[in-house]
Formats: sequence, C-alpha cells, structure tokens
Amino acid sequence: MGFLKRLLGGADNAKPAGEYVDTQGIYFYVQCDRCGAGVRLRADKQHDLLNEENGFSWHKTIVDSRCFRPMPTVVTLNAAYEVVAHEITGGHYITKDEYEALLAQEAEAKRAAIEPPPSE
Ligand SMILES: [Zn+2]
Repeated sequence: MGFLKRLLGGADNAKPAGEYVDTQGIYFYVQCDRCGAGVRLRADKQHDLLNEENGFSWHKTIVDSRCFRPMPTVVTLNAAYEVVAHEITGGHYITKDEYEALLAQEAEAKRAAIEPPPSE
C-alpha cells in the first residue's frame, strides 16, 4: 500500500520518482590520447570551480587509470554552468555517449581476453 501511494505521488512527490539528480556536480568525459582510456570526472559547483568575471573556470590535472599520464585541463563555463571553452593537453573531450561506448568496448575486450573462443 505504501509503495503504491508513493508511486502515485502521495508522500514525497517533491523529488522526481526514482532518479537521483546530482545538481551539485558537473560531469566531464575525457579520452587519453596516448592509451585511449576514457575518464569520467565530476566537478563540484561549490568546491571545484573558480569564480570568473562571466562565469567559472575549472582547473584540473586528469590522470587516467591505464597509462597514468597527466592531462592538464582548463574548462571555462558561463554563469549557467555551460561549457564555453576547454583546453586540454594529452587528451580530448568526448561526449557521455562516446564515453559509455568506450566502456562497453573495454568490457567487451576484457571478456574476449578472458574467455577462450568457442571451440567447434
Ligand atoms: Zn592514458
């Protein structure tokens, strides 16, 4: 009964059902130019961004978990936290979809390495 009530928006309909929305974080997706590893990064609006004249900037040295080469980056955001420019050395920015495709590819490669090919 309680579940149904929640489902229909009884008790706590202040929050959208189910999905957690991270309003404090901004996510960036980067691919290393050297080894091709994808990295997901979260910048906290309150703690990680620097106030600039027309918005914010984010300074970070990204390190992937494969070759560990540092990729220094500076992202410029407007007052609405939208990315207006980014600079990065040693890697490049990708979209969330590209990042997820990369993860799927890596998982597939790992599986192929562990499992022997089916014998006939
Ligand atoms: Zn790398």
